[in-house]
Order: sequence, then C-alpha cells, then structure tokens
Amino acid sequence: MKLLHDLTLTELKQEAESWGQKMPRYRAEQIYKWLYDYASFDEMTNQPTEIREMLKQNFVDRPVSIEKELISKDGTRKYLFALSDGTVVEGVLMSYKYGNTICISTQAGCRMGCAFCATGIDGLARNLTAGEMLSEVLAVNHHLKGTKADRKITNIVLMGCGEPLDNYDNVVKFIRLISAKEGFNLSQRNISLSTCGLADKIKALADENLGITLTISLHASTDEQRKKIMKVARAYSLKELFFAIKYYFEKTHRRIVFEYILLDINTDPADAERLNKLCKGLSYHFNLIPINTTPNSEETNPALKPPTKQKASQFWEELKKQGISATTRRTLGSDIAGACGQLRRSKIKQS
Ligand code: SAH
Ligand code: SF4
Repeated sequence: MKLLHDLTLTELKQEAESWGQKMPRYRAEQIYKWLYDYASFDEMTNQPTEIREMLKQNFVDRPVSIEKELISKDGTRKYLFALSDGTVVEGVLMSYKYGNTICISTQAGCRMGCAFCATGIDGLARNLTAGEMLSEVLAVNHHLKGTKADRKITNIVLMGCGEPLDNYDNVVKFIRLISAKEGFNLSQRNISLSTCGLADKIKALADENLGITLTISLHASTDEQRKKIMKVARAYSLKELFFAIKYYFEKTHRRIVFEYILLDINTDPADAERLNKLCKGLSYHFNLIPINTTPNSEETNPALKPPTKQKASQFWEELKKQGISATTRRTLGSDIAGACGQLRRSKIKQS
C-alpha cells in the first residue's frame, strides 16, 4: 500500500488530484500538516467525513507504531518499532543538554555482515521506505508529548539497524523530507549518516549537495585487519574508501567522523600512526567505542578480542601524540540497550 508519508508536499498535491473534484488543493496542505503531527485519519477534523473515509480505505495513517519502549536510568529510551507489515526495527532516543537525538533504522536487518554486529546476523529482511524512516521520528515525537522528554528532536543519526547507503534512494529522500520547511524542518547540519564504507555511494552522496555529517565505521587501520571483521573491506580497500571520503570532504567541507571499535588487533602505536597518515588533509574526529559483545563475538572470531585497559589507554596517548582528535563515546542506556540490533533479534527469536 502506498504511504502518504513517502510523499513530498508537491507529490501529495499531485496525488490528491487523482482523488476527484471534491479535493481542492489546499486540502493537500492541511493533510500534509496532519501527517507530520502523526495524526490518525479520524483526528483530521478539518477534513470532510468522505475524505477521511477515502483515506482510511486507501492508506495507512501511522506507518510505524511503538511496540516496546525501554527507559534507562540515564533517560535514554530504546524503541522497538513495528512497521505496517509486522516487520520490526529499532530506534534510540538520547537526551542531551541541548536537546534530543534520535537514532533510527534504515533497513530491517543488514546484508553487510560485520562480525561484531547483531543486526547483520540474520541478513537483510527489507529496506525501509523514506516515509517509514520519517515515521520513526514522528512516532517518537508524538509519543513523547506531555512526558518529561517532551522536547524537540534536534538531531537525527542514521545509525540504527541497516546500512543507509545500501538503501540509497530512500535514505536521500528521507533526508530531503525531514529537512523540508513544510515538513519537519530539521537542519541537515543536525543529521549524521553512518556507513560501513560503500565508497561508490559515498561519492554519489557527495554530489547530492546535502549538508549532513558523514560518519565512517572505520574500525581498522589496514586492509588486512579490516577484512577480518568487515566483509565490506573485501569490496573496497582503505585506499578506495579514503579517496571517496576525501571527495566528500572537498565537496561539502563537512568534518568527517570516524567510529573506531577498540580491539586488541587495531590499537598498537603503529595503528595510530597509520590513521594519522590515512586522514591527512581531512578535518575529522574519532569516536572510540568499547565493543559490545554479541552472540557471535570473541569465541567465533578471535579478532574481536578487546584490548587490555592498559593497551587502550596507551593507544589513547598515541592518538594524542599524533594530533588526532578523539573521544570515547558516552555509553548511554547501557542498562537497557545492549548493542545495536539486539532488541530486534530478541523479538524475532520469540516469534
Ligand atoms: N550500517 C551503518 C550504521 C549502523 S551500525 C554502519 O555500519 O556504520 C551503527 C554503528 O554501530 C556502527 O559504527 C557500527 O560499527 C557499530 N556497532 C555495531 N555493532 C557493534 C558492537 N557490537 N559494538 C560496538 N559497536 C558496534
Ligand atoms: Fe550492517 Fe552497520 Fe551492522 Fe555492519 S555494523 S552489519 S553495516 S548495520
């Protein structure tokens, strides 16, 4: 079934023309507002009954519903979302001083198969449409009304289930929808897209003229290391990946963020040196991430062994020496969340 949330206002106006003469154009604008309020068709009280009935018969009013909400002691909220066909994905809401950041999913599952990731274990179920991604944000926004966390969603990170650049067209459309003035009107500067490094798609993204932040899940300083933990490294070498990243940077002048899971194999002093060389010419920052253990962690893949505390802090010092800006990611919601994809997996296993 077609989703109204997939449409831009111009597309909704065109769509409305096919609904017959009783549909003046201003109705499309009214309905568009309702969609972003995440109203049900029955709540669209300024619409004639016959239009509401027609909408009910032909469309879904709320493409995403919140199946489960877990609230952490630190206020982080983890969501299990159900899509209209019963598919489930995850999202997380993190509260900071400046506002709320929501992390949303772009695919149900993922076919990239990174060794450390729970999302990838069962492969890809399906892509989300732009309207479904939008509805993850709208559903949470709507749900928070009147609660303690009822503050505007100020930032969006595409870091939930899925590889955003493996669902390229829908993700780009979502970014345009959520940042449109007549829609959610969120600045593209407040949107981050995290990718495991599909170099060709990074180049294409650079040409879209979007103001978003590109985040790269790097996790290694050599091809050899990267191949041990990420299948995508077999398709694109670090050389190709950094060529694409530099192209993105030249086009957008946006600072690049690197995600780096701390492992025993990637935290030697030589790794810091290599990272410095790879990133020459970029403005960038490293997020260092302690690994979250998943069902197929260390026992099945020895490359996932974490470093000792001492080795990790030496690596930290070495990065500083190399002049690399780095912080350790705040582990919000660790009492409820677990690693990305784990909530969804536990649900799939139950059914
Ligand atoms: N597919 C995209 C975005 C979703 S994954 C990507 O790979 O970038 C979001 C982030 O969580 C990525 O940086 C990923 O490497 C990281 N991640 C996945 N599983 C993890 C785990 N078990 N421990 C720590 N980080 C993990
Ligand atoms: Fe997919 Fe990202 Fe998980 Fe890799 S880390 S399997 S790309 S979701």
